[in-house]
Amino acid sequence: MSSIYVHIPFCVNKCPYCAFVSSDSFDDDELDFEYQRVKTDMLYASHLRPVAETVYFGGGTPPVIGISRLTGLIQYAKEIFQIPENAEITCEVNPKTVNYEFLKQMKEAGFNRLSMGVQSLNDESLRILGRIHDAEDAVKAFKEARKAGFDNISCDLMFALPNQTLEMVEADVRKMLELQPDHISLYPLSIEHGTFFYAANVQKADENTEYAMYKLICHMLKEAGYIHYEVSNYCLPGKESRHNINYWKGGEYIGCGHGSHSYAAGYRFNYTGYMEQITEKDAVEEKIMLGLRLAEGIEADEETAKKIKKYIDAGYAEYTDGRLKLTEDGFWISNAIIGDILV
Ligand code: SF4
Repeated sequence: MSSIYVHIPFCVNKCPYCAFVSSDSFDDDELDFEYQRVKTDMLYASHLRPVAETVYFGGGTPPVIGISRLTGLIQYAKEIFQIPENAEITCEVNPKTVNYEFLKQMKEAGFNRLSMGVQSLNDESLRILGRIHDAEDAVKAFKEARKAGFDNISCDLMFALPNQTLEMVEADVRKMLELQPDHISLYPLSIEHGTFFYAANVQKADENTEYAMYKLICHMLKEAGYIHYEVSNYCLPGKESRHNINYWKGGEYIGCGHGSHSYAAGYRFNYTGYMEQITEKDAVEEKIMLGLRLAEGIEADEETAKKIKKYIDAGYAEYTDGRLKLTEDGFWISNAIIGDILV
């Protein structure tokens, strides 16, 4: 399966914890330049891989480029790629950057899935995160998206935030469940090098509290019928992110736009001239690294399973019928487990 990723590197305001390639300083000329550049990248991509079964616009905040550029790009993609009728076409949106009219035009242009950067439904947490929206904006945007016809909406939810308590997490999840998103991406705050939070030495929740929050969220989402299908992702039955599953299963994808990366024909590359051939050893390691992120796990021989016997014995992983998978607690320490397999 082949996917297209379109990176739009602009945001209304740079969040102080964000390490993504995005800028909050731009003018119309730069937006036009990037618009043309993405189209050129798409044209190259269509020669390399003409079929796109999933298309994902991420960033940054794609709606920042305006509705005519956004719909122009998806229309262009439809002209030059073979995009099947049932393709998943996702766009990341910030609640404050869309309204009903905007969302309706997105839907009419062909987007059929949204990934909404809700992050929290607590105004104080959103203020600390430097988000441009408040809880009311998030609820309004979600409801307007449903009204505009989006029946596949993912919401991002963050936890382990500065000053956040377990009660606040519980309230966030409860409010999010009232919206009944089809999919939830869950992330603990990570203080990344090069961000304002890093420079300011901002403290997130301590390790034990963070783990207690994770367990609470897992429990609440499971009770509400969500499937924990990947380390950081939950969905209602049948609403997995097909685009991301393609990444985790080692499928090909072509990136378009500044800051995007591609993987095709056995190479990783981007538009800065970086190109690396993936060796057989790399491919095997990536299959383990990415495949164990999924609840379905990977096919593995007994030798591989033996390497993590201590985790299997302690309930962090399971090995049955030649399949190795991580449990809910295993997801929490997945980096350590995968590291032990790869040594
Ligand atoms: S909206 Fe998203 S991409 Fe933009 S600065 Fe904030 S976290 Fe980063």
